[in-house]
Amino acid sequence: MRVLGLESSCDETGIALYDSEKGLLAHRVYSQIAVHAEYGGVVPELASRDHIRKSLPLIREVMAEAGLTLADLDGVAYTRGPGLVGALLVGACLGRSLAWALDVPAIGVHHMEGHLLAPMLEDNPPPFPFIALLVSGGHTQLVQVDGIGRYSLLGESLDDAAGEAFDKAAKMMNLPYPGGPQLSRLADSGDAGRFKFPRPMTDRPGLDFSFSGLKTFTRTTILDCAKDGVLAEQDKRDIAAGFQAAVVDTLAIKCKRAMEQSGIKRLIIAGGVGANKSLRAKLQHTAEKLGGAVYYPRPELCTDNGAMIAYAGTQRLLAGERAELAVSAVPRWPMTELAAVDYTARG
Ligand code: ATP
Ligand code: MG
Ligand code: FE
Repeated sequence: MRVLGLESSCDETGIALYDSEKGLLAHRVYSQIAVHAEYGGVVPELASRDHIRKSLPLIREVMAEAGLTLADLDGVAYTRGPGLVGALLVGACLGRSLAWALDVPAIGVHHMEGHLLAPMLEDNPPPFPFIALLVSGGHTQLVQVDGIGRYSLLGESLDDAAGEAFDKAAKMMNLPYPGGPQLSRLADSGDAGRFKFPRPMTDRPGLDFSFSGLKTFTRTTILDCAKDGVLAEQDKRDIAAGFQAAVVDTLAIKCKRAMEQSGIKRLIIAGGVGANKSLRAKLQHTAEKLGGAVYYPRPELCTDNGAMIAYAGTQRLLAGERAELAVSAVPRWPMTELAAVDYTARG
């Protein structure tokens, strides 16, 4: 079964073609970073308009790269939520109508299920059950995954998401938006031990997170170090390193706890912050010490992309799920509401 996947929940237009027998045939991501950079964050209306501009050209590129035409499609998957409603509606309208015009089934995919299943696109996919650490711009969650659609939320952030905290700390250091990856680059040449960042909520039981305190600690550290409002280059690096180590340690402590409590030794990392090298290395080490294993998608499939939507959509289409003809987008949508899918139903 060949399925076209459309991702448009935020500021990336992702288009991909997935074949249930051959795997990922082609994928393209267009990032709107340049559109939003001057505003320091995503402007929803500009995001919707840019998805409209970019979707069709990207679909043409993806089909051309795969050497196929739209007539070769067996289904269309699009992100139905959660996300920015206008941006979601662009993908949902396009995906639903394209499927209708081609007379193939359509499916509206949960964006976080897409992130969560992205490691399945790699050569050594994790068998169920596993623990998933979802770390993106809008979510920080620990989920027990017993199968597709069999998700139990073990813990989540009570305030900022990990990616959001990275971006906000970066903004305080005047790094351009979105600052997460740039802050991480600075951190690589900094001294993580110079400033004693806290490890929030690790000294009490439970699997929830809180990252807003790290933001405050970052702000006060910057104020202490800055001379005439300017931070020296080495101060920047040391603050970035201290901040990154605090986020990475906190995430690793909770992952370890989740693996011990559930008895499940397989851990997957997904979402944009999953591209962070320091986090990958730390979790690899944590899982190995417990006699377990860690799985993650290649960095370009950690951040938003169409491949994860095409993959998740294919699994649900194969199980017989269908979107109705009416177009719908769901800006807020708990992942635990999703229906379970019999994974062995794949064909
Ligand atoms: P959600 O999936 O929750 O709706 P989103 O789609 O905006 O949010 P993603 O695209 O999955 O989020 O990830 C983007 C986030 O990942 C940003 O906050 C970005 O700063 C962060 N990020 C990307 N690469 C890195 C990195 N190397 N280190 C730290 N953070 C990173
Ligand atoms: Mg994004
Ligand atoms: Fe995302």
